[in-house]
Amino acid sequence: MSDAGDSEREPSIRAEALEALLIERGLLTTADVDAVVEQYNERIGPLNGARVVARAWSDPAYRARLLEDGTAAIAELGFGGAQTDKLVVVPNTTTVHNLVVCTLCSCYPWAVLGLPPRWYKDPAYRSRAVREPRALLREFGLVLADHVEIRVWDSSAEVRYLVLPERPAPLAGLDEAALVAHVTRDAMIGVARP
Ligand code: FE
Repeated sequence: MSDAGDSEREPSIRAEALEALLIERGLLTTADVDAVVEQYNERIGPLNGARVVARAWSDPAYRARLLEDGTAAIAELGFGGAQTDKLVVVPNTTTVHNLVVCTLCSCYPWAVLGLPPRWYKDPAYRSRAVREPRALLREFGLVLADHVEIRVWDSSAEVRYLVLPERPAPLAGLDEAALVAHVTRDAMIGVARP
């Protein structure tokens, strides 16, 4: 039997072996692989989450459904699979700030955020998010007032989390399409604000 760490590591080793083999056989180039990774990282990923947040900011009924059942609500926009079988969306308020971590490894809602950033998998991030979240967020450039409670959500193989940031007041007049551009990956993990 392998422990949880092994089961997370093994697929990446297998993937690397497969990639090497396909390149060796001339079926794939490194550039092909990089392009797919970039697409998940920069485009498909966080952009999907940004569309979910922009919809929630624009449509109170959608926001309510999103908080009630994240998985069902992102499916309305055509998103799902990729590690979001149980997605829980946690809303920031003026008094509560949410932060997402996976203390065990690097569980992450791929379907809405793409691939996790390198720092998300860093042992320092994973331990400090729990131990001293306020100091950690300060290093990300996010200084929270003392009266703001920080809630830390530990992702797992079963449950993944997405932060619903507050809509910044200056964006009040924008429509949904324009709002998308203001929602960042980091804001949906909880280490930044839009
Ligand atoms: Fe994990």
